[in-house]
Amino acid sequence: MDLQQFEHQYDHLSRDVAAFKRAISNKLMYQIAKNAESARTEDWLHAVSYAVRDHLVERWMKTVRACYEQDAKRVYYLSMEFLIGRTFTNAMLAADLMPVVRQALRELDVDPDGLLDLEPDAALGNGGLGRLAACFLDSMATLGIAGFGYGIRYDYGMFRQRIIDGQQVEVPDYWLTHGNPWEFQRPEIRVLVRYGGHLEQHGDAVCWVGTEDVLAMAYDQMIPGYGTEVVNTLRLWSAKATEEMDLSAFNRGNYFGAVESKNHSENVSRVLYPDDSTLSGQELRLRQEYFFVSASLQDIVRRYLVTHDDFAALPDKVSIHLNDTHPVLAIPELMRLLVDEHRIGWKRAWALCRKVFSYTNHTLMHEALETWPVDMLGRVLPRHLRIIFDINADFLTAVTAANGHDIELMRRLSLIDEHGERRVRMAYLAVVASHSVNGVSALHSDLMKESIFADFARLFPERFNNKTNGVTPRRWLAQANPGLAALIDERLGPSWRRDLERLHALREYVDDPGFMQRFRAVKRQNKENLARYVRERLCIELNPDALFDVHVKRMHEYKRQLLNVLHVVTRYQAILARPDADWVPRVVVFAGKAASAYRFAKLVIRLINDVAATINSDPRVGDRLKVVFLPNYRVSLAERIIPAADLSEQISTAGTEASGTGNMKLALNGALTIGTLDGANVEIREQVGDDNIFIFGHTTAEVADIRARGYQPRTYYENDAALKAALDAIRDGVFSAAEPGRYQQVFDVLVNWGDHYLLLADYASYVVAQHRGDETFRDAGDWSRRALLNVAGMGVFSSDRTIAEYADTIWHTPPVDLR
Ligand SMILES: *Cc1c(COP(=O)(O)O)cnc(C)c1O
Repeated sequence: MDLQQFEHQYDHLSRDVAAFKRAISNKLMYQIAKNAESARTEDWLHAVSYAVRDHLVERWMKTVRACYEQDAKRVYYLSMEFLIGRTFTNAMLAADLMPVVRQALRELDVDPDGLLDLEPDAALGNGGLGRLAACFLDSMATLGIAGFGYGIRYDYGMFRQRIIDGQQVEVPDYWLTHGNPWEFQRPEIRVLVRYGGHLEQHGDAVCWVGTEDVLAMAYDQMIPGYGTEVVNTLRLWSAKATEEMDLSAFNRGNYFGAVESKNHSENVSRVLYPDDSTLSGQELRLRQEYFFVSASLQDIVRRYLVTHDDFAALPDKVSIHLNDTHPVLAIPELMRLLVDEHRIGWKRAWALCRKVFSYTNHTLMHEALETWPVDMLGRVLPRHLRIIFDINADFLTAVTAANGHDIELMRRLSLIDEHGERRVRMAYLAVVASHSVNGVSALHSDLMKESIFADFARLFPERFNNKTNGVTPRRWLAQANPGLAALIDERLGPSWRRDLERLHALREYVDDPGFMQRFRAVKRQNKENLARYVRERLCIELNPDALFDVHVKRMHEYKRQLLNVLHVVTRYQAILARPDADWVPRVVVFAGKAASAYRFAKLVIRLINDVAATINSDPRVGDRLKVVFLPNYRVSLAERIIPAADLSEQISTAGTEASGTGNMKLALNGALTIGTLDGANVEIREQVGDDNIFIFGHTTAEVADIRARGYQPRTYYENDAALKAALDAIRDGVFSAAEPGRYQQVFDVLVNWGDHYLLLADYASYVVAQHRGDETFRDAGDWSRRALLNVAGMGVFSSDRTIAEYADTIWHTPPVDLR
């Protein structure tokens, strides 16, 4: 850049800064009604958020207009969860306003970094599934696809996790206390959602009458693309009572009775279910699913009919994607709208449905496959149950016509599970109604066809496909790791943010000592930052030169945090036995929430905290080993931990983790994976090479084989002295002196009750892999070369690649043209 160019840019910047200062001050005055003297930091955060938001609104309107004018095909991504995290930094990066806003704030005497930490996370999701939805929205906007997210505006998102006396305590997350500057209430967009009642037959037509109704009110949020003017919409529904209160009760003097029914109907969007694996079994959950699905489908049909007189073009203009089975009631709902309300014949309506819907499967675990009791569905949604029965009858008739009469096959394929209490199999409904069914990693998609959907894969092989997950490089590299982002910018320029495959070029720098030294310095700085955070929050001192071994994700038996604990205990015992050996100092970081009803997962949290307390206060251990459980894992905490990781723990039992996305975020930030051949770990290995990942444990086929031959965990316990010592210490109260029996159950689950997730079978090879990690880490230069090769190999795991594949082969949606 020559001097003239520089001055020109500088002029531009200073003009922008002045304009921004005015904008912020205006917002503070007229929107928040505070002056600079009395404004609290929150007030500044809101003022500057409004100012940034204004910048995006124009683009948003332009996108909406272009979609209408071009009658673009829209993708509707229906998801019960959107785990967005914070919006402010993301919006600034998207609008390319970071330097301007920071400078403007400084000139207003406000510390920009102090603001960022005040923004609450939008935690409208549990974990991977909800975060994937958020990454997908980001990528759809960035690729210029007309994508809409539809979900629920929960008053209470994911609970806040506090750790008290080593135990998880759940605290409600009222994230809207201080208002949400990023949402636009749309009081004019209200949709009636009906429940209950009964059916009446009038000639051909079925009437659903006598329902109790709730209103769904829309709240919109902007989803800005990066390096494009496209800004998409996330529309979240909030429940409103149809009548403010029951006036007759009020007039009878029954005030509480009068507001009660209002509260009852508004409960439907009150709280996110803090459980992403097993079904609560509660009717409220069913009502939630139908609530957002019905509101969304009515909204989608209304929008389509603005520019169309009939439904012939519906499949050319509308794709509806089902993120797991939670939104599967969208299928009978669209049938109801088409057949009952718009009077289209059943056959035609079904053909339209089949072209509109696509479905992503996220789990093969039996206990997580969603089914609803026929009784409950009939009570809450009688019309939909009838439609599901009719779909099932048509489907089984067609199967019989093609395959002959096979009762056993019928029983297996039926949308209704007839064993015991009759239940509707939501995943089967999704498969029957969708033109595309995808898994989320190569391994998972293969297993899906061999296991839960084997019969369907034989009937409809063309329906099944794979779309390996990805993560957005904007949040998970540019925003979370500004140091590494800046270093990459220096060598490759900024284009990797929209084209992550460019990172491949980093391979050229592995032998560039100057670059490698800076690469190590960035990691070191990130580790210091995390160490400071841990010191301030937990009063634990971490050595930033230690190997930072990171295990962060939801707490679940299949993710095997307990296997990690067994290794930690083994290491502790070895340090005590050989204190003078040449130990590679290690910091083991855990974070993750357990579902509130998941007793065993909560016991594991307690064990981690007890083990941490024992080890961290044992003077014989010192810096050789520290264990930290960071409370309240969420997106903003992930952004803090992940850039500081050296080692990424991805150790689920082979065949259980559908994909994982935490594994991708960590490798993208230069952590080496220690992992099983599960989910996307398999593909990560292909990208980074066998030498740059620590693979251990039994494969999916071996796991099946061990189980088939009758797995005996006790044999492993009795034949491995180190394993036995670790398990005995846990059982005998070494980490719970005040209550020696506290972890008897942990011992029993592993040794006596079958060890369902095969921790003991994988323990020995896990410990060996950990040793390989230590030995590699001794040579800092060698380690960081491998780390860089991990970063360089993560190009394919951009959610832009994933979304481009969905757009190409499932949705058939070209980008909108913003002129
Ligand atoms: C990415 C992410 C997850 C998913 O992590 P996995 O390791 O894939 O299970 C869960 N929670 C948060 C907050 C995340 O950012």
